[in-house]
Amino acid sequence: MTNVKQVRSQEVEQAAREALTSRGVLIDDIAAIVFEMQYPYNDQLKLEDCVTSVDRVLEKREIQHAILVGIELDRLAERKMLSEPLQTLVETDEGLFGVDETIALGAALGYGSIAVTTYGHLDKHKIGVIKKLDTKRSEHVHTFLDDIVASIAATASSRLAHRLRDAQDRISRDEQVRRDEEDRLS
Ligand code: MG
Repeated sequence: MTNVKQVRSQEVEQAAREALTSRGVLIDDIAAIVFEMQYPYNDQLKLEDCVTSVDRVLEKREIQHAILVGIELDRLAERKMLSEPLQTLVETDEGLFGVDETIALGAALGYGSIAVTTYGHLDKHKIGVIKKLDTKRSEHVHTFLDDIVASIAATASSRLAHRLRDAQDRISRDEQVRRDEEDRLS
């Protein structure tokens, strides 16, 4: 056994959740985006389903790590603690600097094509709190945060879409079992 220090998963999850909250992003804000993305495909969708989906996504390590890395870099840039030229690239959210998108997209990659295409849509159209973070001109740097939020929303959307299909298939399977049973008895 090597004596390498291990961080407990619970500690990482809590830190990621606190980091988001401390930057003014609430689960409800992200859930509202998920609702907007998924309602066109499911008119039975409730906002509370979206809240639950975002909450589940925040249990995923890839997402937690992206949150921690992204928010840390935003914070360091705010305090002018990065070295140049990275400091200026992050602080000004320079147009050709794409590492923020790469990290966010990378975290969503494991959640299928719906996560990837939804991320692309959110990156382009920036809805809800993403728009607020992207346009907020203040002492705050949100270069990484807007993309991280899009990644969480995209992943939660994909999760909902797949669960909806699973539920539909379960219903049709149950229906088939019922019909078979009727046929057997008739
Ligand atoms: Mg960005």
